[in-house]
Amino acid sequence: MKPAPFEYHAPASIGEACSLIGSLEDAKVLAGGQSLIPLLNFRLARPAHLVDINRIANFDRIYERDGGIAVGALARQADVEDSQLVARVCPLLAAATRLVAHRVIRNRGTVCGNLAHADPASELPAVLLALGGHVVAHSARGSRIIPAADFFTSVMQTRLASDELLTEAWFPKSTGRFGIAEESRRHGDFALAGAVRYGDRLALFGVAPTPVLADPRDPARGLQPSADLEATAEFRLHLVQVVTERVFPQ
Ligand SMILES: Cc1cc2nc3c(=O)[nH]c(=O)nc-3n(C[C@H](O)[C@H](O)[C@H](O)COP(=O)(O)OP(=O)(O)OC[C@H]3O[C@@H](n4cnc5c(N)ncnc54)[C@H](O)[C@@H]3O)c2cc1C
Repeated sequence: MKPAPFEYHAPASIGEACSLIGSLEDAKVLAGGQSLIPLLNFRLARPAHLVDINRIANFDRIYERDGGIAVGALARQADVEDSQLVARVCPLLAAATRLVAHRVIRNRGTVCGNLAHADPASELPAVLLALGGHVVAHSARGSRIIPAADFFTSVMQTRLASDELLTEAWFPKSTGRFGIAEESRRHGDFALAGAVRYGDRLALFGVAPTPVLADPRDPARGLQPSADLEATAEFRLHLVQVVTERVFPQ
């Protein structure tokens, strides 16, 4: 199928982008397009306006800030995966990014787009949560920091307001003990269940409407994963034990 008609905008600055999304009725930000374009093609999303941020200069920076790694809104997942800086300061982020989809998708898909999309089965939101990172949101009203623990609110829902642009994600230094494990039907598919470890912290993904922190000694407690064509709820609970044991080996 083809997308429903929309008006296309290509702002050249963050200010211009914020003023567009703040003033236009029913606008969507376009970053890597790896999630949004399929939704448009299937007409599961029909925004009146598309605000393409790909022409904003210096929006793809990956740099050290406050001891951690800041990732600009246009930094591709593949750039993060290949970055020497990320490998040194936040190797957990590098390891997790390699599990996102396939390299061709990571060549276009952005880290910030992945966080804004907030798929419950995504690896990177769980990494941000396990590390206690944050995102930076800009609008014509100013900017604010949203901690990972507050950012993800439900399936594909975040605290970003409709006039806010996610300009940066910040991942704290993670040179302590870390691990990430997931189970999916095929390599590159979204996970049926996954676990991220940083030190004693455990974050799970694919088993709740958002990534969740859990007790490594009893990771399934309180979880009520959904059942779908890919897996029953019971199987997902079983996988929670499996992936947790992988990141917290006895
Ligand atoms: C076959 C396939 C397999 C995949 N497998 C996985 C996987 O295993 N794990 C995984 O995590 N992901 C997976 N993905 C999704 C992929 O990682 C996407 O790239 C990512 O989720 C979205 O990033 P994007 O830059 O492409 O965003 P887009 O598709 O451009 O946008 C996605 C959503 O986020 C919003 N958005 C994007 N950037 C911003 C911003 N800066 N500010 C505000 N809103 C913004 C958009 O408006 C839209 O609603 C897969 C995708 C495909 C096609």
